[in-house]
Amino acid sequence: MVGNVPVGGGAPIAVQSMTNTDTCDVEATVGQIQALQAAGADIVRVSVPSMDAAEAFGRIRERVSVPLVSDIHFDYKIALRVAELGVDCLRINPGNIGRDDRVSAVISAARDRDIPIRIGVNAGSLEKSLQRKYGEPTPEALVESAMRHIDILDRHDFQDFKVSLKASDVFMTVAAYRQIASQIEQPLHLGITEAGGFRSGTVKSSVGLGMLLMEGIGDTIRVSLAADPVQEIKVGFDILKSLRLRSRGINFIACPSCSRQNFDVIQTMNDLEARLDDVNTSMDVAIIGCIVNGPGEAKEADLGLTGGSPKNLLYMDGKPNQKLDNASLTDDLERLIREEIEKRKKQEEAVIARSAD
Ligand code: SF4
Repeated sequence: MVGNVPVGGGAPIAVQSMTNTDTCDVEATVGQIQALQAAGADIVRVSVPSMDAAEAFGRIRERVSVPLVSDIHFDYKIALRVAELGVDCLRINPGNIGRDDRVSAVISAARDRDIPIRIGVNAGSLEKSLQRKYGEPTPEALVESAMRHIDILDRHDFQDFKVSLKASDVFMTVAAYRQIASQIEQPLHLGITEAGGFRSGTVKSSVGLGMLLMEGIGDTIRVSLAADPVQEIKVGFDILKSLRLRSRGINFIACPSCSRQNFDVIQTMNDLEARLDDVNTSMDVAIIGCIVNGPGEAKEADLGLTGGSPKNLLYMDGKPNQKLDNASLTDDLERLIREEIEKRKKQEEAVIARSAD
């Protein structure tokens, strides 16, 4: 458990991101955590590089409800302090803490408060001895590094941990996770590190995480993008949505458009995506430019539009429902989708109320 979020053991794949504000700037960090939570983040990681940042973390902790992971390197006193201040998971590598009494102090603090530890191995910061042994980062080197940290936790009989093995290379990352998945039972946190900007990072993360998740490897994910962290959450959910592992928000099905289109598919699609960004309810919406593929896709969706002349045809729950004009198409679609969402929410509430009776 990271706070109240289960990780592993068949729980839904948790989606997380990390703040990129100055942790000492409590207002800015709280604001970003709230934005991440609103976007659906299950867990948020906050870097805590100093004791000042640890004190700021305590103030942040009091103001947000989403489970928080503290990212700590080396300084065991910071780990002890954030444990006191209510952290939900410590991201710290036991092998980097130093003397055994310090390692023991951190593990005892974690054990006493039921705080899990994340071991995070990164190809860019492998131990010198492993760099010498392997010459360059390899999947085996990443796994050996993780096992060294795991051995330390094992010696202290501490099993409440998860592991990440990140590299910016997709093949190295995938190979490393496959290896460790066959060696340990603890949950794995997946990510392609330093994946790049919004577009390249999204593609690399989708390919790498997609391969692993389809093999049943991975319990929580972070999409690392040199972009607004809120985008990391959205892309994370889109990856899980594509793999049908979790659903959140609208799943758009849209054709690429061509000269047969009867309305501007690309503009309509982009406008709807922007206007419906706030929607969390899962729903399939098809936006298809003409009758070539329109009826087939529209019938399969919860709400589907097939371009037609002189008017477009809207399907609801697989059946033709009404005709829509091009002039007010986006407005009409947004209104109809929101009405459908409200209807679904009421149905869900009724089911919950009945099951509570
Ligand atoms: S569905 Fe129609 S408009 Fe869309 S790409 Fe296919 S042929 Fe073109």
